[in-house]
Amino acid sequence: MAISFFSGAASFKRQWALIEEELDKIFESGQFTNGPTVKKFEQAMEAYTGAKHCIAVGNATDALIIMLKAAGIGPGDEVIVPCFTFFASASSVGHVGATPVFCDIDPVTYSISIEDIERKITERTKAIMPVHLFTQLADMKEIQRIADKHGLLVLEDSAEAIGMFHDGVHAGLIGHAGVISFFPTKTLGAIGDAGLIVTNDDLLAQRVRRLRIHGQDEGVPYVYHEVGYNSRMDDIQAAVLLSRLPYLSQEIAKRAHLAALYSKHLAANQHVQTPAIKERQDTTNPVYYVYLIECDRRNELVQYLTDNGIGTEVYYPLTLHTQPCFESLGYQEGSMPHAELACTRTVGLPLYPDLSEEDVAAVSEAINKFYEGGV
Ligand SMILES: *Cc1c(COP(=O)(O)O)cnc(C)c1O
Repeated sequence: MAISFFSGAASFKRQWALIEEELDKIFESGQFTNGPTVKKFEQAMEAYTGAKHCIAVGNATDALIIMLKAAGIGPGDEVIVPCFTFFASASSVGHVGATPVFCDIDPVTYSISIEDIERKITERTKAIMPVHLFTQLADMKEIQRIADKHGLLVLEDSAEAIGMFHDGVHAGLIGHAGVISFFPTKTLGAIGDAGLIVTNDDLLAQRVRRLRIHGQDEGVPYVYHEVGYNSRMDDIQAAVLLSRLPYLSQEIAKRAHLAALYSKHLAANQHVQTPAIKERQDTTNPVYYVYLIECDRRNELVQYLTDNGIGTEVYYPLTLHTQPCFESLGYQEGSMPHAELACTRTVGLPLYPDLSEEDVAAVSEAINKFYEGGV
């Protein structure tokens, strides 16, 4: 039996009656982008995250670009980012005309290395962009300490971090502003692209609201205060997300349950390292967006699982500092040892609320068999 890496189908079907009800309202209103349903979703996310402002946009890549621009980042500025992350964490910095300055990662959390941040700060540094990857937050206490010491902004790529809190503060609100992605595979997924900017800063929020609709103030069309973007959330996506939001906490709990099962089944395997949650003084909660293992002979394992009908996803096969588009920045291979090693050893296993315990057992068994049999 095939087990795919991602399957949103079941939960969408389960929630379809609710979604349909919301869609009817949209068709009646005839407002399909940035309309009343989007507003309603923004308010629901403000309640969920505790943010003063949740501003919906087309996707989280746009959200990053608009957040950086609204925070005043531009040509001549440097933004410190990890080199082991999704491309948008760095491309967004390039899009506003600034330079991404890459750092290595912490080998346990896969998020930005605190020591490396300190080394990379220059007179041009304007912001640090921590990325919260897979399951746990970056070390926000340390990042905030460094930012305060050097007078830098903290702009979070919290695209994957819905449901993660730091001392009661939702991801994206620990620093100055953050983003959330609702790409279909994310913890809260739409049926297409959608994204959000979160912040408690009134001025930044006002600028974000302008930038998402060509630089116009809401309700005052055809007056352009700056050259903005066209990045609106569709009301259809907002309807889907609104209908799914009430199930988020129970879906996060289901992910944690399945993750714990994987860790139990794989515990005795000497070739596999299951996710480790780093203990910190501050109160944080893991959210298993991705169940990422580190393993020997990663590529062979991936091939073996593929041959046995099991889907996986390699996050991330290459670091960003050696990508062709960043060649002019002059980074050398070998300069980010932890990230470069992670690229050869990590792989994400299937994990979604509708995955069964039997599926988790079957995937684990296949992995154990691969190593035991010396396949
Ligand atoms: C998914 C993701 C993004 C981009 O989100 P989109 O909505 O697909 O544009 C950015 N950063 C990280 C870390 C992500 O995982």
